[in-house]
Amino acid sequence: MSDCCSTESDTSCATTSPKKRPCPTCGAKAVEVKLATLLHHLKQPWEAQLGDQKYYFCPDVDCRTVYFGEDETVMGIDEIRTAVGQKRTDPERLLCYCFGVSQSQAELDPDIKRFVTQQTKLGSCACDSRNPSGRCCLKDFPK
Ligand SMILES: [Zn+2]
Repeated sequence: MSDCCSTESDTSCATTSPKKRPCPTCGAKAVEVKLATLLHHLKQPWEAQLGDQKYYFCPDVDCRTVYFGEDETVMGIDEIRTAVGQKRTDPERLLCYCFGVSQSQAELDPDIKRFVTQQTKLGSCACDSRNPSGRCCLKDFPK
């Protein structure tokens, strides 16, 4: 069960705030992800030379870097097997990977956000493995 969405608010995703580091490609503030998150999204993770270090997710929509390590090795969008919604602007991009909600669906039907919020409160979400950002999908929903 994920604890990443266990609070009432959409914005406080963890009891300890995740570490941040500027993306070596674009300078945006990137958020630390678990190694397991990387493994769930990388193509051929068994071939990835992952070191014993922290990894980060770059949320900038225009930046082609998805993950990078403390040693500044970067993993670009072509090395990720998940379609990364955070790197797209089209309405079909996914906002919620746990329940498969696209941006256009979320905009048309506010009940979807209520459903996702309810499920995350019940601990039925799996953002830390399904969402390439490793963070709660609700963060990406329109306000
Ligand atoms: Zn970046």
